[in-house]
Amino acid sequence: MQRATGSGWRPGNWKKCWGDNVNEWATAQEFRLKQKLPYESKVLLAKQVAREFYQKLNGNVICSVGGLDSITLLYFLRKYVSKDIPGLSVSSLEDLSIQRIHRQIPNLVILKPYKTKVQVIRDHGYPVISKEKAGKIQMLQNPTKKNATVRHAIMTGDTGAYGGWRKGTRMKLPQKWLELFAGLENEKYGTNYKIAPFRVSPDCCYYMKKKPCDDFIKQNKLKTYMGLLASEGGQREKALMRHGCNYFGKTVVRSCPFAVFSRTDVLRLALELEVPIPAIYGEIVRQPDGTLETTRAKRTGCSMCGFGIHIEQRPHRFDRLRQDNPKEWHFWMYKMGWGKVLDYIGVKWEDEYKPINEREQLDGELAEMLG
Ligand code: SF4
Repeated sequence: MQRATGSGWRPGNWKKCWGDNVNEWATAQEFRLKQKLPYESKVLLAKQVAREFYQKLNGNVICSVGGLDSITLLYFLRKYVSKDIPGLSVSSLEDLSIQRIHRQIPNLVILKPYKTKVQVIRDHGYPVISKEKAGKIQMLQNPTKKNATVRHAIMTGDTGAYGGWRKGTRMKLPQKWLELFAGLENEKYGTNYKIAPFRVSPDCCYYMKKKPCDDFIKQNKLKTYMGLLASEGGQREKALMRHGCNYFGKTVVRSCPFAVFSRTDVLRLALELEVPIPAIYGEIVRQPDGTLETTRAKRTGCSMCGFGIHIEQRPHRFDRLRQDNPKEWHFWMYKMGWGKVLDYIGVKWEDEYKPINEREQLDGELAEMLG
């Protein structure tokens, strides 16, 4: 039988991805097909998903609000589901231009984080590389008897007895990061890896966003809409593909109406709904390939967030922070040690980034000076 194939499916590899869970595999395939729908159909689908969630929960819902995607979601929900849907945000974590927009939005509950950004870094470590990899590095940096099996899987990809004796799994941390962070395991594996002079952790979200928001929605008996897009990849993509747009689990109930949207879809919707665009994103413009993109930040988060920084082109987020708020940049880079972390993982930051035309002008001036 010919299976419906979305991108990524190859004969024989579905079992590797989804194990024996055929239902999850089928949900993932259906999800891939929805991602290929035209924009108009995806918007219709999002309306249907959002309304279904609202009705099932008798309107006891709230929309988690952070950057542009979720601001767009709140506008979307208020236009197409109910104008009374409240928003919820830990606004102080966001860029100042986003906070300014948040303050203009009526009926937006603003929470305080349980730990400050400084406390999170000091108590837990730096949020760097990716959440998934930071979790693995955190385990390697904090070895215990209890996490020995998982550490072995992180080092080798072999899951051992607890993971069904699977070999070569994606549990293995990529070699590049093992070289930099797995030094505490050298004796056991006969390796010569480095021990980083700082700690890495994915715990920031829990203390700054997740726990305060979870506590609020629990106390108020609400369930959340979230502006997550599977096209962003990583753990989000896996979770959204596994559980679909609306998820009514035992412990988690949530709705992600934009789950199948591409970045262009959500930016087009933001333009259509006349969503105010925070300055950190610049403008929304059409690219030569027809997609939409923002002229400045593509994604935002806390000003000191380092997840994904190693794959960002310059000017990267810390270059932009330097431009927008040099004092804050100085604080994170020098006082809070971010500069050393970036040096360690090979990300340039200290040389002031100049746009290409400015550099060409400088080169021209230098050539003239030298005759
Ligand atoms: S934006 Fe980054 S640093 Fe901030 S809570 Fe989320 S993952 Fe952590």
